[in-house]
Amino acid sequence: MSAQQTTLETTSLKRDYYHLIINGEKVESSNNNVFETVNPATGQIIARVAKASQEDAERAVTAAREAFDHGKWRKYPINRRAQTMNKIASIMRSRFNEIVELEILDTGKSLHAAQGQVTQAIEDFEFYAGAIVGHRGSVNNVPGQFHNYTEKEAVGVCAQIIPWNYPLMMAAWKIAPAIAVGCSVVVKPASLTPLTAIILGEICLEAGVPAGVVNIIPGSGSEVGNYLVEHPKVDKVAFTGSTPIGKDIMGKASQTLKRVTLELGGKSPNLVFEDADVDAAVDGSLFGIFYNTGQSCEARSRLYVHEDIYDEFVEKFVEKTKKLQLGDPFDKSTHVGSIIDQGQLDVIDGYVKSAIEDGADILTGGKPAQIEGFEGGFWYEPTVIANVNHDMTVVKEEIFGPVVVIMKFKDEKEAIRLANDTEFGLGSAVWSKDGARATRVANLIQAGIVMVNCPFSAFPGTPFGGYKQSGFGRELCIETLDLYTETKSILSYYGSRPLNPFGL
Ligand code: NAD
Ligand code: MG
Repeated sequence: MSAQQTTLETTSLKRDYYHLIINGEKVESSNNNVFETVNPATGQIIARVAKASQEDAERAVTAAREAFDHGKWRKYPINRRAQTMNKIASIMRSRFNEIVELEILDTGKSLHAAQGQVTQAIEDFEFYAGAIVGHRGSVNNVPGQFHNYTEKEAVGVCAQIIPWNYPLMMAAWKIAPAIAVGCSVVVKPASLTPLTAIILGEICLEAGVPAGVVNIIPGSGSEVGNYLVEHPKVDKVAFTGSTPIGKDIMGKASQTLKRVTLELGGKSPNLVFEDADVDAAVDGSLFGIFYNTGQSCEARSRLYVHEDIYDEFVEKFVEKTKKLQLGDPFDKSTHVGSIIDQGQLDVIDGYVKSAIEDGADILTGGKPAQIEGFEGGFWYEPTVIANVNHDMTVVKEEIFGPVVVIMKFKDEKEAIRLANDTEFGLGSAVWSKDGARATRVANLIQAGIVMVNCPFSAFPGTPFGGYKQSGFGRELCIETLDLYTETKSILSYYGSRPLNPFGL
């Protein structure tokens, strides 16, 4: 095992090889295993990455445990931790273009998407730098000569397992609130997209986060991820990914009663009423499904349109879908980037084929896309499917790609029934110029997020998370800090006479 200096200042972020980060050092994996990460826009290998083993996971947990149990980070005054969080944000800002470039290379996402997500990752650190200063316990009413107050204490060592669709943003959503309260973290990025999480780990060190507080160990989910979930010295697991893996994690974490938060899949409904601004609804719905190439847990993938405006809406929606530009992710005019890999491309195509077999109509798209100059990459045409019903797989299951199904409804009651007819409950959207109706519908939708006449699902500060099988716990908000802390109740007696409750 070799350790390297962690100074970022003079180092390019784009390299041939990336190390693990364990205990404040850039290290090789214990068995010298490496894996390759690919640019999915071209299919070309961009770098080799040290592949963490279970032994490395053990080293990372030991380092995180030591940092938490005996280190100084948790004991720093809150303002000092806040300053360091702001320093992380400012280093990220100073390397903004390089981070964006790396994120695009590793994911194939479009420039405007990557820029927005890197910005949000930075703002997460700034948000929690501020939020932590105001995060505190309470003073509670107790009888006379007693006094009760609560303290918020960091929960401990957190395993944070993240997916490939927003590699840096998910890393920031996880790391920022956890370290803000004084936790130590072991982050396992998705193997398809490890690079920017590793860079974020290096930036944390550069900013002065002590060794062992932030450890980054890319590796296999079933080996390294699972090892962390089962580890008795890990206090909490925060997971973002698919619903089946989330269920598996919750079961395993129960063995040591770890705290668990889960951000899982979705099949979010998008309701367009007859009194909506149709053009705004078309534009917002287009963004709602095709942003990030549809590889979003809160993608509005079920589009319901009132029968009175259905024909007009669908015509405009399909016309604009056809105008979406696929191509060079670095080109400013590109709207939709590549799919993450061949496996995901096959999954998407399988869903579309199942829809055709079930008798649905493909209004546009429906097959892998051929992009000049990017023949080796993984691309799929933005796809609109109509003539569907709730028995069809394409309507029930999460596709995680640029595919939307459109259905008609006749009244508010039916719209709500259809919206809630799903095992998921993450995002949802309502388009109506009638504020009373929008509020009524928003109140009846079973989902953690409702977007009213709004294409965006979240900003730093707004709670993000699901109902039902979309998981539980909220990220990106003040409440998240509670999920990385335990509440300790301190009850004191200040009476002038000693108490003798047994009366002996
Ligand atoms: P995934 O569940 O396959 O993997 C997510 C992460 O878990 C990866 O790092 C993976 O290596 C790891 N993992 C896999 N098996 C594991 C195991 N047995 N134990 C521990 N860790 C394991 O999901 P994915 O394909 O990377 O991401 C796509 C999914 O994530 C979609 O279903 C999407 O809806 C969901 N997602 C949800 C949110 C949200 O906030 N709710 C955000 C993004 C993505
Ligand atoms: Mg990659």
